[in-house]
Amino acid sequence: MSNEIITDLENAVEKRRNFAIISHPDAGKTTLTEKLLLYGGAIHQAGAVKARRDQRKATSDWMEMEKQRGISITSTVLQFGYDNFQINLLDTPGHQDFSEDTYRTLAAADNAVMLIDAAKGLEPQTRKLFEVCKMRELPIFTFVNKMDRPGREPLELLDEIERELGLQTYAVNWPIGIGDRFAGVYNRRDQTIHLFERREHGSREAQETVISLGDPKIEKYLPQDLYYQLKEDIELLEELGSELDLEMVHAGQMTPVFFGSAMTNFGVQLFLDAFLDYALKPIGRQSSVGIVDPTYPEFSGFVFKLQANMDPKHRDRVAFVRVCTGKFEKDMVVNHVRTGKTVRLSRPQKLFAQDRESIEEAYPGDVIGLNNPGVFAIGDTIYVGSKLEYEGIPCFSPELFAYLKNPNPSKFKQFQKGITELQEEGAVQIMYSTDDFKREPILAAVGQLQFDVVQFRMLSEYGVETQVELLPYSVARWVRNGWSAVEKAGRLFNCITVKDNWNRPVLLFKNEWNLNQIIEDHPELELSNIAPVG
Ligand code: GDP
Repeated sequence: MSNEIITDLENAVEKRRNFAIISHPDAGKTTLTEKLLLYGGAIHQAGAVKARRDQRKATSDWMEMEKQRGISITSTVLQFGYDNFQINLLDTPGHQDFSEDTYRTLAAADNAVMLIDAAKGLEPQTRKLFEVCKMRELPIFTFVNKMDRPGREPLELLDEIERELGLQTYAVNWPIGIGDRFAGVYNRRDQTIHLFERREHGSREAQETVISLGDPKIEKYLPQDLYYQLKEDIELLEELGSELDLEMVHAGQMTPVFFGSAMTNFGVQLFLDAFLDYALKPIGRQSSVGIVDPTYPEFSGFVFKLQANMDPKHRDRVAFVRVCTGKFEKDMVVNHVRTGKTVRLSRPQKLFAQDRESIEEAYPGDVIGLNNPGVFAIGDTIYVGSKLEYEGIPCFSPELFAYLKNPNPSKFKQFQKGITELQEEGAVQIMYSTDDFKREPILAAVGQLQFDVVQFRMLSEYGVETQVELLPYSVARWVRNGWSAVEKAGRLFNCITVKDNWNRPVLLFKNEWNLNQIIEDHPELELSNIAPVG
């Protein structure tokens, strides 16, 4: 490998930043994404992402389903340039389309942006996604949104993050007033005040007025009470004393916090500039041969998401691969760890929203879409050169359970085939009753959409009309110390024992309360909400 290629690779890694946004529906993720793209010049007018989505023609049954439900099932990757950086924004499906893919996407991210509605603070979906970030020790950047609307006290919000998530906070900027009286933010990085101008929707980059804290003109711009309040707040923040500690940020122990209003573009650029300074570039990943640095010259990556049948004419599937090391080039022949075969990657795609564009090369931190005629499964490693395998992606704790029934015995074979393939692909988790007479699979999912997708695909791809019978459970725990521990524990109250696809014991509970009861009564059971990598 020539030095030139290595330098090329090092430069590419140095300039790449990759992140996912975690938030609860309605916090403003779509809006913030658009504004980030606007600054990145990837779109020229905000509103384009949504408009593009609306204009999209229904090219498949799959998209037909998306259209009918008015949602986007596809998790896409948006790549844009800003200030010499190549930024990859991994979109995590959020709303009704919440599914395991939302979690898996975080396995491909190097950083997370936690978006919070100033009036609501931490919400359930954000907390869940935070747990996954914490497990992966991802650096988390917090953006408190909708400051132009009435909201909670900033200190109270920081306190909530510290107390409930166990994350130290460091406010990089600080709001001046809120709601009707929102006047701007104080940027602690250079002691300047960025004034907020009220305007309707910010479709272009905002031109902000910036003055320094000591500037006598400040009185002209800020009402006196807000100015005094700000001075008091600044003093208080100094007294609180925490410094921005990038090591702690990178270890996922401290979160830099920003305040703004995505809808009006306010604070978005301040955020982006600071984010690029503080965020982690692609770093080494754990593998079967130890941690491999992204500048390792041979290509490797892993599959974190599969998208099925975007185009029914081709029955195509796309496997999304996170590039981890080396340079990816079109037509590359790679080794596929799980099957031991070689595969030529001839139709790589870059993804911008729904448009698929062919790519020639990609670098660590990027995501590529590969045509996948049933070869790839979630967690698969592909590599060139000496063998290595990345850690798999775990199964996340499902919260919805249902029997999937096949009322037509003559379709038994298709039914089995469908279930096996959808499970392998990671569309849904499958569990079984321990009662030998109950042969029907139990679908286990994190979002209702996964059930709909399974039924839809069972019919359209395997020709089997199925029925879903919901089960009254909402909490699952794997018993890490296995069947012998379950047997020893004897009768377990208020839960049922099932087995996952790898025949490992899983307990299902109606609620957390019942779970806590078992934890108390049976400390010998090692319960985990994440499956061992199968
Ligand atoms: P998502 O569900 O997280 O993608 O949220 P959206 O981006 O669709 O935003 C939800 C709603 O909040 C929309 O009506 C937005 O216009 C609105 N919104 C987003 N950001 C702001 C903001 O900064 N201020 C105000 N007032 N509204 C906002």
